[in-house]
Amino acid sequence: MKQKLIPAVAFTMALTIAGCSKPATSASSADNKEAIKTDYDVVVVGAGGAGLTAAITAAENGASVVVLEKQGTIGGNTALSGGEIAAPGNWLQQEQGIEDSVELFYEDVMKGGDYKANPELVHKLAEKALDAATWLRDDIHVEFEDKMLFFGGHSVMRSLVPNGETGVEIIKKLKAKADELNITVLTNTKAEELESTDNTVTGVKASTKDGDLTFTATKGVVLATGGFGSNIEMRKEYNPEMDEKILSTCSPGSTGDGITMAEKLNAATVDMSYIQTYPTCDITSGTLLYVGDVRLAGRSILVNKEGKRFVEELERRDVISKAVTEQTGGVSYMFWDESAMEASGVKDAHPEEYEKLIKDKHLVKADTIEEAAEFFDIDADNLKKTVANYNQYCADGKDLEFNKRGDLVPFGEGPYYIMVSQPAVHHTMGGLVINTNAEVQDTDGNTIKGLYACGEVTGGIHGTNRLGSDAIADIIVFGKVAGEQVSK
Ligand code: ADP
Repeated sequence: MKQKLIPAVAFTMALTIAGCSKPATSASSADNKEAIKTDYDVVVVGAGGAGLTAAITAAENGASVVVLEKQGTIGGNTALSGGEIAAPGNWLQQEQGIEDSVELFYEDVMKGGDYKANPELVHKLAEKALDAATWLRDDIHVEFEDKMLFFGGHSVMRSLVPNGETGVEIIKKLKAKADELNITVLTNTKAEELESTDNTVTGVKASTKDGDLTFTATKGVVLATGGFGSNIEMRKEYNPEMDEKILSTCSPGSTGDGITMAEKLNAATVDMSYIQTYPTCDITSGTLLYVGDVRLAGRSILVNKEGKRFVEELERRDVISKAVTEQTGGVSYMFWDESAMEASGVKDAHPEEYEKLIKDKHLVKADTIEEAAEFFDIDADNLKKTVANYNQYCADGKDLEFNKRGDLVPFGEGPYYIMVSQPAVHHTMGGLVINTNAEVQDTDGNTIKGLYACGEVTGGIHGTNRLGSDAIADIIVFGKVAGEQVSK
C-alpha cells in the first residue's frame, strides 16, 4: 500500500486510505488560529508512534493533551515502517514453542549495538517490550498477522507483524484511540522553540501557515520528533560518510528538530554519529523495499554481479550494508524462487511495490536462473553454482560459507526472481540523553524539568546499530513511559 511512490506521497496516501488524515485538526486559517485552545497540561511534539503513544497514556492519566505535527499528515517514520515489533515471550512464540526471554532479548540488543547502548535503557526496553505489544493488541486494537519475521541480529524469531505488514495499522489505531480520548492533534503546526521559566520547560512556540502560536504546558512537554535521517547537513555534521550520495528511507519530517530545540536548553546528546543504513532499498528513490522481506522470511540469498554470495543474509543491517557497498556497483542482487515468493506472501502484501519494481526493471521474474541473471548482466554460471551450493548446505543443514541462521530451505523449480537494491539511510541511533523515566538530561547530567523525550529523537537505546523491529518496541515502551511521567 505504501512503497510504490516516494515516501511523502506514499504515506499521505496510505493514511488517507486508512482514514487517518481527516480527523487531524488543522490550524489553517486566522479564524481557526484565534479559536485554537493553547493551554494544556501536556504538549507533545510529533505525531508518529512515540508521540501518539505518549499522548494517549497522558490523556488516560487525566491530562489535557495537544499533539503538534509539522507535516500535513501524521505518522512519521512509524507509518512508513513495516510496523513489526520485537516482543520476547509473545503469543506466537508460545504457540510455536519458541523459547525466548527478556534476558535473551536484552543480550541481543546490547550485542547488536556493539555493547555501546545504555544498559539501563535496554533493560527497560527488554522488560516492557511484551507489555507494549500486548497493549497495542488489547488496548489499541492493532491487529497482528498470524506470523512472525526473523530480523537480522536476533537469536530467535520474535517479531510480530501488524496487519498488512505496515506501520499504518499502528498509526491508524493510535489515532482512533487519541480521538476517543479527545486529544487535539494539530497538523501543519511546527514546533520551533521550547519555552522555559526558572529552568523548567513550560511550553512550545510553534509556527502555522497563519502565524505563530505558543502552547503552554502546565505539566510538561514531550519531544517525539523522530530522527534526523532526512537532514543531510546534520547527518554530515555527525558522520561525514552519510552525505548526499546516500539516499534515505525516512519521512521528510525526520530533520532532528527536537534535538536542535532541546540543545538550546543545554540538553545532552549521545551516539550522534551512529547512523544506520537499510541494506536493501530502491536504487533510485531510496525507499525501503518490502518485497525484499522474502529475505527476512529466510527464503532468499544475496549475490553480487559476479553471481556469488558475499554476506550472511540475516546479518545485522550495518554489516550487510557495508558488505553491499564493497561489491561491484555498490548494489546487491536478491535471488529467490516461486515457492519462496508464495511462502513469504510478499507479493500479495505489497502488490503496488512489486509492479513498480517490475516496471522500473529493478526486479525480474524469469523461468530459468540464466534468464534472470542475464537481465541484470550477472554471471549466470556462477549464480547457478551458488544456488547449487546453497541447496547442498540446505540438505546438509549447515551453511558452510556464511553460517546463515534459521531454517535452511533449498531453492526449487522456477520461476525465479532477482531484485537489485542498495543501502539507504534508515535510522539515526543517536539523540537526546534520557533516563529510564524518559526525562531529558542536560550536559551536566541533571534532569531538565518539564522536558521528556521518546522514540527516535532519543539516543542510547540501540548503541551503534538498531536491530530490525526494535524501533517499534522502543517507541511504544518509551512513549508510554514519557506519557506516564509527564502526566504525574
Ligand atoms: P517515532 O518513531 O520516534 O515516533 P516518527 O518519525 O514516526 O518518530 O514521528 C516523528 C514525527 O514528528 C513526524 O511525523 C515528524 O513530521 C514530526 N516532527 C518532526 N519535527 C517536528 C516539529 N518541529 N514540530 C512538529 N512535528 C515535528
